[in-house]
Amino acid sequence: LIRVRGVTKSFGDNHVLRGVDFTAAAGTTTTILGPSGSGKTTLLRALNVLETPDAGTIGIGDVEVDFGALPSGKAGRAAAARLRAQSGMVFQAHNLFPHKTVLENVIEGPVQVQKRPLEEAVADARALLDQVGLAEKADQYPFQLSGGQQQRVGIARALALKPKVVLFDEPTSSLDPELVGEVLSVIKDLTHEGWTTVIVTHEVRFAQQVCNQVLFLDGGVVVESGSPDQVIGHPREDRTRQFLKRIL
Ligand code: ATP
Repeated sequence: LIRVRGVTKSFGDNHVLRGVDFTAAAGTTTTILGPSGSGKTTLLRALNVLETPDAGTIGIGDVEVDFGALPSGKAGRAAAARLRAQSGMVFQAHNLFPHKTVLENVIEGPVQVQKRPLEEAVADARALLDQVGLAEKADQYPFQLSGGQQQRVGIARALALKPKVVLFDEPTSSLDPELVGEVLSVIKDLTHEGWTTVIVTHEVRFAQQVCNQVLFLDGGVVVESGSPDQVIGHPREDRTRQFLKRIL
């Protein structure tokens, strides 16, 4: 479902991604691990075209964009928008609209961006809020919720757009430790329901239990990839071993 080939991205002379390759099948969960500054977030944002790669190809489902040959102007923007619409992003800090209720936050994208009928969007949003355990909070405002609950609204909001792939950028790193479990548990449920997800996280134990594929990123390339048992349990590369030793 996800095909990434030769993706590069520099910020000035900081070469953050130096040719990233990976694929992920439909219904699988991929975790991106790696040291700080290795380009994990940049890679995730590139999948959603929040960062535009300098070169390389990204394909999700039947949409594929060759960034090395991206036309300038309107055609290029349209291609980027088609690719972006294939995935939904859950950010580190939920960034909900503070003046909208939980329900209004979840229906915003479907109604404003996708122009779906309000009644249908509301029904879907209520079902999603139920799924993340927040059916009773629909009419409350973000400030009335805990950080973990806000993050679960953020997940419902990403799912409401019915993306092919859900991207999580360190979804628990801004949470108090006691709230991490409830958010990871919602993500785990999604993976069981067949959603295709890509997660940047430092929660190695979670990755081991839940995901199908681990990418170890260092210096802007995928140093090692494979099952969690292989990459985390029996790493082949010295750099992976050093990293795991530091964080486990
Ligand atoms: P962390 O685990 O600390 O979040 P990371 O592996 O996710 O790190 P990135 O956030 O992808 O790393 O950042 C990689 C490098 O790119 C860093 O040196 C960062 O300063 C730089 N960088 C990221 N985004 C930008 C930007 N918009 N403009 C300039 N430099 C950036």
